[in-house]
Amino acid sequence: MERPRIHLDVRSLYDQFDQPVTEFDCGEKCRLHNPSGKPFCCDICHAVPVAFSQEWEYLRLQTDLWHLWRGNECPEDESNPDRLRSQTPEHLLLMACKGPAFCERNYRASSCRQFPFFPYITSDDRFIGLSYEWEFESTCWVISHLHSVTAAYRREFIQVYDDLFTRIPNEFDSYAGASEEMRDHFASLRRRIPLLHRNGKDYLLSPQNERLTRVDPLRYPRFGFYRTESGS
Ligand code: SF4
Ligand code: SF4
Repeated sequence: MERPRIHLDVRSLYDQFDQPVTEFDCGEKCRLHNPSGKPFCCDICHAVPVAFSQEWEYLRLQTDLWHLWRGNECPEDESNPDRLRSQTPEHLLLMACKGPAFCERNYRASSCRQFPFFPYITSDDRFIGLSYEWEFESTCWVISHLHSVTAAYRREFIQVYDDLFTRIPNEFDSYAGASEEMRDHFASLRRRIPLLHRNGKDYLLSPQNERLTRVDPLRYPRFGFYRTESGS
């Protein structure tokens, strides 16, 4: 059965989701550690962006920055492209851009704007804040410096997803699934989940019972290249 068509004003979505994650270009921090010299989230060998079909319809008319992901953009990647396709929720399309040297800020996809975060949904279906794509713990500078995320970005993120969830139920379901997967993963590691709460405060969340413990964001753990770095 064909899905009902969801109206999404893509320009308005992008205008409402335009705050940078940090007050400076965090790409300058992480790209120093990437042999390609690209920020990890803008390197197709590390991250494949996704977009709603309505975004692709909008972007293809506005810019030649994007194409639909073919699966051969990263020469070193020998994994089967069908696997990533099968893991992608059906309301999203895999995309590829021409790379950071050609980035057009106005035409970044929603997945560029949300990275490295995703909306955390509790086991009783409440969207309580931002957590992050844990596969990027060792590479993304922001994940090791959560205190650098601006309050304006956090507010905007919450507003955007409050709105999207009322209009795109699949989006809520897929993040509820991602949150459950994160709980399972962190429980297996006996770790708590860093959570930037919608109330503006910072917590660690127990993956077993989802109890929240308030923390100083400067004390969140650091990973990978950033574990031993001094300074903020
Ligand atoms: S969000 Fe993370 S991976 Fe992307 S540019 Fe910033 S530090 Fe790098
Ligand atoms: S559009 Fe820009 S921000 Fe998005 S992946 Fe490409 S280079 Fe990065």
